[in-house]
Amino acid sequence: MDPCRVYQHWNPGRLIFGPKSLNEVAKEISSKEVPLIVTDKGVSHAGILTKVTEVLEGAAIRFHVFDGIEPDPPMEIVEEAAATYRNHGCTLVIGLGGGSSIDGAKAVSLIASQKGTLREYGAGRPIEDTIPPIYAIPTTAGTGSEVTGVAVISDRENKIKMVIRGPQLIPRLVILDPELLGSVPLKVAAETGADALAHAVESYVSLNSHVITEAFALSAIRLIARYLRKMAANPADIETAGQMLIASCMAGLSFSNAGLGLTHSLAHPVGAYYHLSHGLSCAIYLPIVMDFNLPTTPEKFASIADAMGMNVRQLSLHHAAKQAVLAVRELFADIGIPKTFSELGISFQLFPKMVDDALAAVPTKLNPRRADREQISKLFKSPS
Ligand code: NAD
Repeated sequence: MDPCRVYQHWNPGRLIFGPKSLNEVAKEISSKEVPLIVTDKGVSHAGILTKVTEVLEGAAIRFHVFDGIEPDPPMEIVEEAAATYRNHGCTLVIGLGGGSSIDGAKAVSLIASQKGTLREYGAGRPIEDTIPPIYAIPTTAGTGSEVTGVAVISDRENKIKMVIRGPQLIPRLVILDPELLGSVPLKVAAETGADALAHAVESYVSLNSHVITEAFALSAIRLIARYLRKMAANPADIETAGQMLIASCMAGLSFSNAGLGLTHSLAHPVGAYYHLSHGLSCAIYLPIVMDFNLPTTPEKFASIADAMGMNVRQLSLHHAAKQAVLAVRELFADIGIPKTFSELGISFQLFPKMVDDALAAVPTKLNPRRADREQISKLFKSPS
């Protein structure tokens, strides 16, 4: 943190957390409101949508459902959901699911009420006005989308994951109910947890970090180091799911303010070109980028190693910092994250546009170590 700089910190709306906190959602919706629940088929088939609709019906709240969100939601699907919102005269959105559903809900609130197109907002058009309230109920512990002013929407035609930014996108109400995570597929539990760790680590070392974001990030790292292995083995354990939900939320609070780094600049193009989940793309690059960044901020990497439970007291700063990379590699190996593209059956080819997109990405500017075209190309190819 630079003591001579002015910082700002956005806080989310109300956070309600704990087992059965879902029951509180109806109290937060007046009888005049008509929510659109934005979700996907996986969440719906797991019976989670029914749990939410029962709570709303119990409070005589009229609502509508759009359950057609796809992973890394494409803009065409968001437009379909926005048409449902308008056609039914809805007044607020509830994002129910992982980051894809929550981001889908944010984007619906945006385009159902504003003049611009998703491509325009994705290209940096500012959000002009207030938008309908967004409530978020995460069913994965990873993206932190429930507290961020960010929505990631895919432009499949141009093979880009557009990052739409604006404080208006920060949800007004967040419900963190660990009972909704019991049905998360184990692979999703592992990859989303790795995503949360990538958010915490990248925001902790970001050039834009400050004392508040650093506190959230380090607490998140501690919890993830302690609970992610358990989460990847048994997400139905309420204590584990609750701690991972808090950890991913705190990582979101950190990166929404401090920003991210090169892991994300690389992960987005790889996700768009090779259709890997966001969590997996981040997991593949996180230890590689940490190793690249080590020389710039060894004190912070030593603190990460300490937060991850490594014994660094007797080590030199350089060796203590290296333990952070080792801790992440060991954790990811334990939860079954592949290290290389060949393990994933991908024959990796680097397209020049992937490098262009990574160079232009906002997180690249916040990464603690500057990287040129050649270094970024080398990092992209590292897992080959
Ligand atoms: P996801 O939302 O794509 O969900 C993955 C799969 O898990 C889906 O098939 C879904 O149906 C299923 N699922 C989710 N919860 C479940 C549950 N409880 N039970 C059964 N199945 C369940 O995955 P994600 O990793 O949470 O979100 C990824 C998206 O979030 C990406 O598009 C990524 O770019 C975005 N993202 C956004 C932000 C942000 O701040 N807005 C941050 C990071 C990532």
